[in-house]
Amino acid sequence: MIDPFGRHVSYLRVSVTDRCDLRCVYCMGEDMHFLPKADILSLEELERLCTAFVRKGVRRIRLTGGEPLVRRNIMSLIGNLGQLVKDGTLDELTLTTNATQLAKHADGLAQAGVRRINISLDSLDPQRFQAITRWGRLDQVLDGIMAAKSAGLAVKINTVALKDGNEDEHDHLVEWCGEHGFDITFIETMPMGEVHADRTEQYLPLSLVRQRLEQRWTLDDIDYRTGGPARYVKVAETGRRIGFITPMTHNFCESCNRVRVTCTGTLFMCLGQEDAADLRAPLRASEGDGLLDTAIDEAISRKPKGHDFIIDRNAHPAVSRHMSVTGG
Ligand code: SAM
Ligand code: SF4
Repeated sequence: MIDPFGRHVSYLRVSVTDRCDLRCVYCMGEDMHFLPKADILSLEELERLCTAFVRKGVRRIRLTGGEPLVRRNIMSLIGNLGQLVKDGTLDELTLTTNATQLAKHADGLAQAGVRRINISLDSLDPQRFQAITRWGRLDQVLDGIMAAKSAGLAVKINTVALKDGNEDEHDHLVEWCGEHGFDITFIETMPMGEVHADRTEQYLPLSLVRQRLEQRWTLDDIDYRTGGPARYVKVAETGRRIGFITPMTHNFCESCNRVRVTCTGTLFMCLGQEDAADLRAPLRASEGDGLLDTAIDEAISRKPKGHDFIIDRNAHPAVSRHMSVTGG
């Protein structure tokens, strides 16, 4: 799959559910309305969709949500997609999770063929963790993270940089990740979905985060890429990497190789644009994949050049859907 700007689309993110057991303040409102079950693709439909993309050249799949591990029987989908990794059709199957359910699933994930996992963690302070996630318990999440480590999964921590929220902890998070052998990626808040909070008050530019980290750590720029938009540095003192995802201050669209599909089968060609293609109708219209293949080709031919996020005090979110719909 090659888009109009010559970019090869080889990476698929699949949001397997819009539901979540947490309510992170930058991601969701407290009383969210979730999608009716009938709108959501079954696990079999999700697998058919993923397989269609793999047939068209996708080499990496990331499952996300909402919280992927709260979807019932999700391990069966992971097991089946893991077979594609084992037979070499797929280079990587991975997921982004909040780790609340990870203690019970970590071994199963490793056995299914998952080798890396991204875990969201914005604070190591129990009270603060609860304030940010509204419903989360830090000890449960740390148990999940340590289970992933014991299962041999490479862990990357994702931390959303929050002004007045966790900015005084970034140093400690880098140190903690160094001790446990984890990489860490800092993410700028993106204006996605109404969350009943002022985005300008949450937004912290990563250029500043980096400057502050440099007062304590030696950060060397490196070429390492994971197929995602993060730019990496190596921390000389710990030997681990720090990634910076800066949608607001740095335009990473020129090398974008990804598309995203929601749990209703809506394909978004860009995280920061509203244009989308419905894949559920062609998927459900026939047992063969002809209609689905045509719909995918047609959608890729209109992948836009880039996003246009702006954080502005008076503006509505740049994109009205929540991050939990398209997944991070
Ligand atoms: N529930 C899983 C988790 O939290 O890892 C997967 C889905 S979550 C939507 C994926 C990532 O998006 C998380 O790392 C989260 O911190 C990030 N995220 C959510 N809303 C965001 C926003 N408005 N700006 C930047 N990152 C956001
Ligand atoms: Fe749930 Fe992840 Fe959104 Fe937090 S960031 S509310 S864990 S989907």
